[in-house]
Amino acid sequence: MKTKLGLLYGGKSAEHKVSLQTALAVINALDHEKFEIHPIFIMETGEWIKGPLLDGPVETVAALQFSRGEALPPTALAPTLFQAENKNESFDIIFPLLHGPNGEDGTVQGLLELLNLPYVGNGVLASSAGMDKVIMKNIFAQAGLPQVNYVWFIRSEWEQDNNSAYEKVEAEIGYPCFVKPANLGSSVGISKCSNREELVEAFKEAFQFDRKIIIEEGVIAREVELGVLGNDNPECSVTGEIIPKVEFYDYKAKYEDGDTALVIPAEITKDEYELLYGLAIKAFKSLDCSGLVRADFFLTKDGKAYINEVNTMPGFTPFSMFPLLWKHTGVEYPQLIERLVKLGMERYEEKQ
Ligand code: ATP
Ligand code: MG
Ligand code: MG
Ligand code: MG
Repeated sequence: MKTKLGLLYGGKSAEHKVSLQTALAVINALDHEKFEIHPIFIMETGEWIKGPLLDGPVETVAALQFSRGEALPPTALAPTLFQAENKNESFDIIFPLLHGPNGEDGTVQGLLELLNLPYVGNGVLASSAGMDKVIMKNIFAQAGLPQVNYVWFIRSEWEQDNNSAYEKVEAEIGYPCFVKPANLGSSVGISKCSNREELVEAFKEAFQFDRKIIIEEGVIAREVELGVLGNDNPECSVTGEIIPKVEFYDYKAKYEDGDTALVIPAEITKDEYELLYGLAIKAFKSLDCSGLVRADFFLTKDGKAYINEVNTMPGFTPFSMFPLLWKHTGVEYPQLIERLVKLGMERYEEKQ
């Protein structure tokens, strides 16, 4: 019997396009003898569309963007899409291949919980806490994880008195600093600032994507990442280092230029690896993660590590960091997907 896998992708998020790339890669990597793949496309407008059953590879991303002809309003459609005429027709598992808000943030996970369907990756709590950089950092601080200083604002606070906001950043954080939307990924809306003028622009930019923003101390450090895989007993991959050719690892460097170097494994000492390994597991557990995360660190010259963030649904094409890290650890892309499916099933069964 094939595993009936519902693949959810696209999404109402600034990371919609990234998700499409990932879906294409996952569909083509899955063993079609083992899996029956049911694509479910979420348009940028939030409409959900069920595509035709896939029994082989797909050529292009465009082929995954079904027309809105069949679409119903999302509230009506989302649950009905998962409803089966009889129990045997229901999905065995859902793979939410969604990045950013409305997908990586616990919303879709909550829907799947209500529908009592097993799904791949993090649950509601870890997804939502991991999506909001302020909440995530507060939890990390409580767990004693080392991180850079940060402050945060909501839009209305800034609109009321923007000068005080800038002054607070200058007093508590200083330059250079990074201004980020609290709930996003792929570096969308992020700016590095070296003076007041840039700070003002960065606030405006980040507030276009979120009602809440975070400002962090900029560190001069190497960027080293680890993949974490598992449920209650997670394991880490080897490390990978990102060496962007530009100021920082921005959206363009991630998805358009392709001349950012990924060095796997990163050239770090055994002590540094052990340090990062321990911190990554601690971060995973502090958010009560399950399935997977990619833990991103800053590593300074003198061997100090700061956690930057975890991503509860990291970039997942075969050329993305997370799958590459596991490949170098001995888990090939198709096996990685199967392992995630298994972990999703196990978590579901444990809760029953
Ligand atoms: P992802 O695609 O990994 O989800 P994101 O949108 O969540 O990314 P961050 O990882 O927080 O964004 O930041 C993007 C990049 O900006 C980092 O990879 C790094 O290059 C740079 N950066 C972010 N914060 C800092 C900081 N405090 N100091 C130095 N560089 C930083
Ligand atoms: Mg992120
Ligand atoms: Mg992300
Ligand atoms: Mg990141």
